[in-house]
Amino acid sequence: MGSTWKLLNVGAFIALGGHLGSLAVTSISSGHPDSLTCYECRACASPCPWKLDPSGYLVAARVNNPDRRMLAQYNIARYNRLVGTREPDREMTLDKLLERDPYMKVIIGVVLERDPATNEITKVEKKDPMRIEQAKEELEKLRAEGKDAEMTDIYEMRAKDSAFYDPLCARCEAACPVALPVTKFIRDVKADEKYR
Ligand code: SF4
Repeated sequence: MGSTWKLLNVGAFIALGGHLGSLAVTSISSGHPDSLTCYECRACASPCPWKLDPSGYLVAARVNNPDRRMLAQYNIARYNRLVGTREPDREMTLDKLLERDPYMKVIIGVVLERDPATNEITKVEKKDPMRIEQAKEELEKLRAEGKDAEMTDIYEMRAKDSAFYDPLCARCEAACPVALPVTKFIRDVKADEKYR
């Protein structure tokens, strides 16, 4: 029994060492070895006005994988009002987002009330997050039933997609307790959808 435990401990130690070693290699190859120092405390998430989890960018850099998914809860109407109208290629529409990534997770809702002057949603019953392909079908079904329904928020995106839409306000950076340059990670993948 004693020698079995010893073997298990040695095996676990070797596996952990291998895992940490592989992260060191991928973070260096992404050009962001400092991503290893992010301990995912998520202090950067609370000041983000778009409800993103910026540590997702750092984790994606650590594993050198811009396709890694992260929480990115953009409110679509607000985003389009502030960014999409100024930069049409960044306008968020269901078809454009679907083309980008059919596995993206989004939130749709049945609209219960709109402001008659602006047509903005004032009361909505949101559904649980779902894949955007499924959301499209669900919206068609709700509309066929005569309901007013819309995609209201993004829920989860690939790091490279979130970076494409990220307005780079830099509020997250000031909140990082280990002073990581969070926007440097975002800018890198925003430029060409890959690290380095
Ligand atoms: S730069 Fe601004 S929008 Fe982008 S993750 Fe940081 S706080 Fe959020």
